[in-house]
Amino acid sequence: MTTAAKPPDPSQTENSKTLGDRFKSGVERPVVIFMAALHGLTPLLCWLFPSALGVGMLFALYLLTGLGITVGYHRRLTHQAFQAQGWVDHILAVLGLLAGEGPPIFWVAHHRKHHKHSDLSGDPHSPKDGFFWAHWLWIFPKQDKRRLGVLYRRWAPDMLGNEFYLFLERSYFYWHLALLVALFALGYLVGGWYMAGSFVAYGFFLRMVVVLHITWMVNSVAHVWGYRNYETTDTSRNNPVVGILAHGEGWHNNHHHIQQAANHGQRWWEFDLSFLVINVLAVLSLPLKWVGWGDRRPVYQLKVYSYAEQKITTRFRS
Ligand SMILES: [Zn+2]
Ligand SMILES: [Zn+2]
Repeated sequence: MTTAAKPPDPSQTENSKTLGDRFKSGVERPVVIFMAALHGLTPLLCWLFPSALGVGMLFALYLLTGLGITVGYHRRLTHQAFQAQGWVDHILAVLGLLAGEGPPIFWVAHHRKHHKHSDLSGDPHSPKDGFFWAHWLWIFPKQDKRRLGVLYRRWAPDMLGNEFYLFLERSYFYWHLALLVALFALGYLVGGWYMAGSFVAYGFFLRMVVVLHITWMVNSVAHVWGYRNYETTDTSRNNPVVGILAHGEGWHNNHHHIQQAANHGQRWWEFDLSFLVINVLAVLSLPLKWVGWGDRRPVYQLKVYSYAEQKITTRFRS
């Protein structure tokens, strides 16, 4: 006689252990050192090198790398909410990588797992395990490389056959170094050593801190505070502050309800910058289709959910 496997307790998450248990294998040292340096140096550098141009660079890169995460990593690569040509995928992936949240396969695999087990056993970052665990502590425990490989094969097999994403996995650190050097050089050309310091302080350090915490708020704040349009089985919320700051990702309850939709904002006040950008790219693509270059359009086949009709339709079909 065999004994049936005990089903997981849905009220408990995989990480419903003490914080000590979660860190019993130690910490992921490169992540700890990187985050400590980033958060430690940012206030000092920003105090030493303030400038309007530096703040402008901060804002420009906040938009670009933030949209790399929301449009690229999330809506395109994780959920396939729209279709895009390979070169567009690659640009979006590099912009997302520069946000500092890991290479694309790492991000996509964890996020798909989050949707499959939202706030239940197996969710990598549920606030049921603690607000700060969901916000950022979950990235610090030591990663077992073998288990990471299993995770990739289970949750992102479609990306493992793509040489470019595998290359980004290997070269992750160097892209950040290249941006750091480029900002330093550009700043030096514009305004000497002082502006070089300012571009690095605001465009690299402060921008990365800002984008990281805003994106992490989707996992923490938007699973705790806000209103719900849908009674999903998870704790997702629509949070207006996160909605605006995270380019539309804060309408998170809408997203958990219909994950494959390109629009996370569904009601008129739910402003969704990422969806606007996707639409602009699709509209710009239309002339290419009309002159017979349909296969070169950057973005097409948007899956859009209507709150009024409660159904999904496809726009900008090929
Ligand atoms: Zn979520
Ligand atoms: Zn998602």
